[in-house]
Amino acid sequence: MGATIIDGKAFAAKVRGQVAEHVARLKAAHGLTPGLAVVLVGEDPASEVYVRSKGKQTVEAGMASFEHRLAADTSEADLLALIDRLNADPQVHGILVQLPLPKHLNAELVINRIDPAKDVDGFHISNVGLLGTGQKSMVPCTPLGCLMMLRDLHGRLAGMEAVVVGRSNIVGKPMAQLLLGDSCTVTIAHSRTKDLGAVCRRADILVAAVGRPGMIPGDWVKPGATVIDVGINRVEKAGKQVLVGDVDFDSCAKVAGAITPVPGGVGPMTIACLLANTLTAACRANGLNEPEGLTA
Ligand code: NAP
Repeated sequence: MGATIIDGKAFAAKVRGQVAEHVARLKAAHGLTPGLAVVLVGEDPASEVYVRSKGKQTVEAGMASFEHRLAADTSEADLLALIDRLNADPQVHGILVQLPLPKHLNAELVINRIDPAKDVDGFHISNVGLLGTGQKSMVPCTPLGCLMMLRDLHGRLAGMEAVVVGRSNIVGKPMAQLLLGDSCTVTIAHSRTKDLGAVCRRADILVAAVGRPGMIPGDWVKPGATVIDVGINRVEKAGKQVLVGDVDFDSCAKVAGAITPVPGGVGPMTIACLLANTLTAACRANGLNEPEGLTA
């Protein structure tokens, strides 16, 4: 039997709908409009697309969108001054600095200047520490989206064997923390892991966040496992540029119980979770109950 294909596009639309309903209620009951500020430095074409899409979906959810486009040669002092202004602005509940930044800017310094309560990407060192110690935090959007899909599919994840391939700060490590928080038995694999196939075959939940097209074949997947493919890789197929994930979809879908496709799996969940985080931040900033099911 083939795997269930997890429809991330439909799931993300559902999450965005829930966010929009909460936003409408916040406006009606409290006169509060959650606001998201996105800062883009330079003209990286992929970042331009992401920023446009984030702005559009923010407005569609009924929230306020503030876009700050800065020249590629913006100084660190000017960028930090903008972040200070956004930190102090009560209309801004979430701040996102689009990465990568031009090379002359220190991304760690810039991210850590954001007020942790407004750090809707969840990359500030305080949020990393809060997540790692099981406290309430802002959770990075991509792993949060993966967690939501897994909870939706399985209900409770406790006791499941989870393997996360990739140990980046933006996906692999927070994903592992979230799975641990839901009481999975978690293994983090990376480029130095020995016999990666054998490690992956242990997984009830296999998350691939590597950035290598189709590197996980079907015979690394335990029959019936859930495979979450975070990878977004541009490859050429029959003379055309197409997007593929880190798992070899056709062979893995024959063995897995459920699998996310690329595109249309994890990808759409990332912006949906950014909107959810902005809503959560707005509620917390105003001492209101945060919506259920939209954060870890
Ligand atoms: P990254 O920072 O480059 O990290 C890649 C990780 O993969 C590293 O930990 C690396 O190990 C590991 N790795 C590399 N080659 C490996 C191998 N042969 N075997 C096992 N592990 C290996 O990447 P990232 O930012 O986490 O992104 C990963 C993928 O997810 C990319 O395709 C990216 O485009 C995609 N992504 C998607 C979304 C989304 O919205 N869906 C969001 C973010 C990222 P070492 O640490 O040992 O080098």
